[in-house]
Amino acid sequence: MKKTWRFRLAMLIGKMAMFAQKVLGMNATYFPGKLAIRICPDFLGQIEKPPMVIGVTGTNGKTTCANLIGNILVDQGYDVISNKMGSNINAGIASTLISGSSITGKAKHAVAVLEIDERSSRKIYSYIQPQWVLCTNLFRDTVTREAHPEFVFQLISESLPAETKLVLNADDLISSRLAPNNDRVYYSIERMPSDTEVCENIVNDMRLCPVCHEPLHFEYVRHHHIGKAHCEHCGFASPASQYEAAVDMASGVMTLEGTTYPLMGDSVFNAYNILAVVVLLREFGLSGKKISASLQKTQIVKSRYSSEVIDGVEVVTHMAKGKNAIACSCVFDYVRKEPGSKEIVLILDDYFDRKNSSENTCWYYDTDFEFLADPSIKRIIVGGVRAWDLKVRLLIAGVSEESIICTPSEADTPSLVQLDADRIFILHELYLTGAAMTVRNQIADRLRAGERQKKGEMPHDH
Ligand SMILES: [Zn+2]
Repeated sequence: MKKTWRFRLAMLIGKMAMFAQKVLGMNATYFPGKLAIRICPDFLGQIEKPPMVIGVTGTNGKTTCANLIGNILVDQGYDVISNKMGSNINAGIASTLISGSSITGKAKHAVAVLEIDERSSRKIYSYIQPQWVLCTNLFRDTVTREAHPEFVFQLISESLPAETKLVLNADDLISSRLAPNNDRVYYSIERMPSDTEVCENIVNDMRLCPVCHEPLHFEYVRHHHIGKAHCEHCGFASPASQYEAAVDMASGVMTLEGTTYPLMGDSVFNAYNILAVVVLLREFGLSGKKISASLQKTQIVKSRYSSEVIDGVEVVTHMAKGKNAIACSCVFDYVRKEPGSKEIVLILDDYFDRKNSSENTCWYYDTDFEFLADPSIKRIIVGGVRAWDLKVRLLIAGVSEESIICTPSEADTPSLVQLDADRIFILHELYLTGAAMTVRNQIADRLRAGERQKKGEMPHDH
């Protein structure tokens, strides 16, 4: 493509903005790309892309998957550029490509691994045609941003370039139907002991057949609309999968095509992420053996989860992404299924930043707080200005009033923990990771000071 003077100017200004940010010690995120697109609206079209482009999209898991794919490719000796430090909208991708290009707009790397925001699909795929796009899943997400999964589905489905090969989750009845004319491979996880006959979640966005709108028949449900289903009326069914993995949560391994892979976590979400990464890289051309070897060396970012046993009590911090009903429900499900008695500190408010905060609490009612009405949970300490809204939700969920303690400040939660359970879970919003670590440290200090013994509370055997 012949490059216009607008493109050359945009490239120059973008490079200068990037340089200025570097000098000022700022992280280059979306600003240089935003400037470049402002100057040259089809900047993403004119800039040369690396010969191989991998796109990663979906509601949950795209950051983890994109990072793992990038790390494994680098470990295997590929020259990779990615937007892992930046933003995943069109301006962020423009910034990434600017940093990976010469001043004349020539690509300097062999492979680009791009995390792509679902809602930016149209603005990105009109200019960038990845060879592969992995869509991890499609769920309800922040309603003020993402509307409904059908809306996001339509947006991605209509925007994907015709020549892109899709890597899709056969167990996800929404995302598996993306762009039906595109070449694709499916992956799935064999039936697991934790699968159920009926959906235990409040939300299941695939109750009806997408073809004839008669009720769908689920052979099994993993969570929400994830599982295996068919329509007895018209014959619609979950797609057949080319990559069917066996997951053994207890041993922390996944087996696919005779190769074993480490799971690096014990949630189903995480298992799907590992499987998606493996399948994408198998399609890319790497052998299972090489992928597995690189995975053994990689670590998932630990900011989402920490665990330490102090004075016989396991203190766990676990991110429960606020406004994301599906992610929170999965965390609550995980907590209730953990052995032993528990105390929970719940800090889910997002008032940290008025501009991007929402006063909308409707997502509480899509979230399975019912999972917290479990006999193993002795107490729930709710911290934050929305503590009483959450209390109402917990009461509706069947949690007894005596076991709910509210405080308007996250900082007050550590002193309200009674230290009489086997495990303490601190479940926190993404933007409260720092606050959660402070809460954790203060609880840890109380345990280290022997407060549990002073109270005469000893750990129970299970
Ligand atoms: Zn049907």
